[in-house]
Amino acid sequence: MNFHFGDSNSQINAEVCVIGGGPAGATIARQLALLGHSVYLIEKTDNSQNKVGESLPPNILVLLDALGLQKRIEEASFLRPDKTIVRWSDKSDFTKHSNGQRGFLVNRGRFDQILLEAAKEAGVKVIQPAQAMRPVFDDTQCWNIPVKYSSGLLKIKAKYLVEAVGKRSFFGWKKERFSAPTVALYAYWQNPNVEKYATLIEAGREEWFWGAHLPDGNFSAMVFIDPKRKRSNRNLESFYRSLLAESSLLRGCLEGTITSKVKGCDASSYIDTEPVNKHSIKVGETCFSIDPLSSQGVQAAMNSGLQGSFVVHTLLTRPENSADAIEFYQNRQKETVARHHKFAAQFYSEAYFHDTESFWRKRVNSESSLLPAIPQKVSDLSDNMRLRLSDSATLIDVPCIAGDIIVKRRGLIHPSFERPVAYVNNAEIASLLNIIPQGGTSAEIKQAWMPYISPLESAGIIDWLYTTGVLVDSLSDRVK
Ligand SMILES: Cc1cc2nc3c(=O)[nH]c(=O)nc-3n(C[C@H](O)[C@H](O)[C@H](O)COP(=O)(O)OP(=O)(O)OC[C@H]3O[C@@H](n4cnc5c(N)ncnc54)[C@H](O)[C@@H]3O)c2cc1C
Repeated sequence: MNFHFGDSNSQINAEVCVIGGGPAGATIARQLALLGHSVYLIEKTDNSQNKVGESLPPNILVLLDALGLQKRIEEASFLRPDKTIVRWSDKSDFTKHSNGQRGFLVNRGRFDQILLEAAKEAGVKVIQPAQAMRPVFDDTQCWNIPVKYSSGLLKIKAKYLVEAVGKRSFFGWKKERFSAPTVALYAYWQNPNVEKYATLIEAGREEWFWGAHLPDGNFSAMVFIDPKRKRSNRNLESFYRSLLAESSLLRGCLEGTITSKVKGCDASSYIDTEPVNKHSIKVGETCFSIDPLSSQGVQAAMNSGLQGSFVVHTLLTRPENSADAIEFYQNRQKETVARHHKFAAQFYSEAYFHDTESFWRKRVNSESSLLPAIPQKVSDLSDNMRLRLSDSATLIDVPCIAGDIIVKRRGLIHPSFERPVAYVNNAEIASLLNIIPQGGTSAEIKQAWMPYISPLESAGIIDWLYTTGVLVDSLSDRVK
């Protein structure tokens, strides 16, 4: 859609204004438009430049499918890497081959623009390239957002504000760091002498390396270090080259030609402690940043955009549920951060130098687990075993998505769950648990659940409840 703003002091009225058109901003804007809201999105760049976040692992396909975007991304001719070479825990390689589904190696400028085009098609009015200035909340309970664009300045007046500006925020950062400070140094190369068709990951003595070929023919090579080392090396390019020379997988870059400036960026993990209120929400990296080790930042950003869309929709259309919507978003944010935190801690603790070098020790320590280890047993459930609810299983009220609104539902909590569970296979778990015949066999439980779910689904749920310890053998000792 093309815009004609008239004179340079035009004012636009919108229900929602999204600032930032990266993966998080484009996702929330599109979802809100699909839910019937009038949405404007301001994006500073024209996406002709590349940016970090180029590796998208196979599990992003589930999210893309849920958003109805999988086909577009698959048809965009991005690379579909088949293997990852990891030189990490000892000097021999661990080669992971994709098991059926492959992820993507993308040029992020192009990837982001595809998401923005999809948002436009859903009805979002995208103003790009244009830079939003600091928004002001006025007496009429609306946001006034000055926007600089090629022909001058315009003002957007919006009821609700979405901040999706990446690692920055317009309002006093409530940032809490939860990893050792890290910076990434990176540049692009042509004709490097490195393994083709693979993503390369390597642990060094006081750094780790990541590299991959991109669809535009460039090779992206990154080094993750303690920021103190960057500060003490004034010539960034020669420092970066000296680091690459230490890498057995990436040193072949130095036989090719560097095609960009060497850049540095913050790669530390943090969480914003005030991610949402009744008038504004932060999504993507404005809300939290996870360790790049998992290559899941883009996915996590899009997911927070999706979850945020239900929150904003609830705040705008069902204000009486505001507290539930806010609690829902805070819970999801903390869980996402904790899950990635745990993954990174585990991976850092497996690195070759993890117990001798401070770079690794700091990361293993600071990444101490926020989530309990979840013991899962192999199912030995037999047909005649009599089952009862474990004493550690409790039902509480939890905010969750029902349709497209956040509501409170009874959810099950148990030490083996990362978070309360309200639904299984579209059935409310509380309703199912409330009618379990205590001391019943699995056949009797299936019978009781017959009006609600099929016997096949019942069998799966009973097995899951048993292996997670929610259902226990009724003859087992009760926990004191
Ligand atoms: C070194 C490094 C490597 C990484 N590698 C990976 C990886 O391999 N895979 C992966 O999934 N993730 C990776 N990540 C994480 C990934 O880059 C981020 O998670 C992702 O980009 C976050 O998306 P976002 O939409 O929140 O923010 P961004 O992608 O930063 O988008 C924010 C947008 O807001 C716009 N903007 C900012 N200010 C304004 C303004 N005032 N007005 C208008 N527009 C504005 C910007 O132009 C930008 O387009 C990596 C991160 C780092 C630091």
